[in-house]
Amino acid sequence: MSGTEIFEVEIDDVYHYRLSYGGQSPYFHGLQRRELIGSRCTGCGFCWLPLRPICSKCYAESEQLVLSGKGEILTTIMLPNAPEHLKHLGRRVATALIKPDGADTCIKAFVVGKDAYFEKGTRVSAEFLPKIRTIGDFYFTPD
Ligand SMILES: [Zn+2]
Repeated sequence: MSGTEIFEVEIDDVYHYRLSYGGQSPYFHGLQRRELIGSRCTGCGFCWLPLRPICSKCYAESEQLVLSGKGEILTTIMLPNAPEHLKHLGRRVATALIKPDGADTCIKAFVVGKDAYFEKGTRVSAEFLPKIRTIGDFYFTPD
């Protein structure tokens, strides 16, 4: 079959649907309350952020845990342009790995500040967007 025989059309699709975060809903409710909600495994004690209803290490149930919202930068990559949802802040933005205080995991999140570089070990605090829809609707700022 030659390229001219293949039947093609352009179609624009728009889907409107309601997405459920299921067992991770408490994490998103926490973001709405301006809190980071982790979980502590009742079996091995490992602390996850975002929370996991079931521990991924030992499969025991976990208990919710409100973290302080503070943490430390492990590594960052400065972005040439701020993501669309953070442009209104008018600041430099990096994508980063953050080690939240009280968690045994790190979390990928944005760091927003006036500097063009955020050093490893910089202390940060969580800030929250007014409307929470995704895991990316919060960010950290240097203390
Ligand atoms: Zn566990």
